[in-house]
Amino acid sequence: MIIVMKKGASQEAVRELEENLQSRGFQIHESMGVTQQVLGIVGDTSVLDPEEFLVNPNVDKALRVQEPFKRANRMFHPEDSIIDVSGVKVGGRKFTVIAGPCSVESQPQMNTIAASVKKSGAAMLRGGAFKPRTSPYSFQGLGDKGLDMIRAAGTAQHLPIVTEIMSADKIDEFVEKVDLFQVGARNMQNFTLLKELGKTNKPILLKRGMSATVEEWLMSAEYIMSEGNENVILCERGIRTFETYTRNTLDLSAICAVKRLSHLPVIVDPSHATGKAWMVAAMARAALAAGADGLIIETHNDPRHALCDGAQSLTLEDFDSLMKDLRRIAPVVGREM
Ligand code: PEP
Ligand code: MN
Repeated sequence: MIIVMKKGASQEAVRELEENLQSRGFQIHESMGVTQQVLGIVGDTSVLDPEEFLVNPNVDKALRVQEPFKRANRMFHPEDSIIDVSGVKVGGRKFTVIAGPCSVESQPQMNTIAASVKKSGAAMLRGGAFKPRTSPYSFQGLGDKGLDMIRAAGTAQHLPIVTEIMSADKIDEFVEKVDLFQVGARNMQNFTLLKELGKTNKPILLKRGMSATVEEWLMSAEYIMSEGNENVILCERGIRTFETYTRNTLDLSAICAVKRLSHLPVIVDPSHATGKAWMVAAMARAALAAGADGLIIETHNDPRHALCDGAQSLTLEDFDSLMKDLRRIAPVVGREM
């Protein structure tokens, strides 16, 4: 349930109401709407009657939240959330582009890519060190060594780094070394991992599971947020459909759905969504036009020899030319780059 306070309700009146609810075992999530304060009530609100609050002269509205996700719900937080990743803001008017290879392969590779994508205007550097591969016989990533390589390359270019975390036992090391923790599609419903990530204060990039509904995806965000970490960025990366021409089917309408249902920023991964490098630029431009808050794009200095996902990786030159297109489109659709 949410309670919308009247315009100009005093802090004392808000506190009194909060204390009453807290003494009955509810948690309160405070946020500011355009002009009015909003109190989100978390707990078994089925025992509450909205009428009970309407007799309070400081209360404007009391509404039940129909969706099962609460903290991720736009009703709880009417304004768009802006997530700060080591100084880089994701959400609001900003359009943020993350680029880098699927996997970290070597220090020179990461240095070359980092320098080039930085010059083209990327705001963060991606690269997997721990890879969730479908086959146990495929390259599994360089692990801890890879983590140190992407970190060194990111530090040299002043780019925050994004890399995937696959298990909770790596959290302490990631907290020290990684700016944005990626939860991959295959782990979107690893609830043990999500809960542990919720106990940190690090920003989390939560990819949509390949067969997850928008509601299931937002419930996974809720798992993280319910433990106290509200720094969640969603990532649409394509879903499985009957179509086999593309690796997945990019669900651009999910951006609109998420924007309506939630206050969390949402970015798009056109690389895993299509599996084809030649489609990436068109889908990236479409994502910007559809209202996404940014992109994460696989970019490689030598895609043909990439150890992972070369077929969907842009060359450094193609990434640069895409960034030029995006900078032209952004102001037309009200975004800053
Ligand atoms: C990746 O970003 O390299 C990756 C494995 O993505 P996803 O989890 O979306 O498949
Ligand atoms: Mn990949």
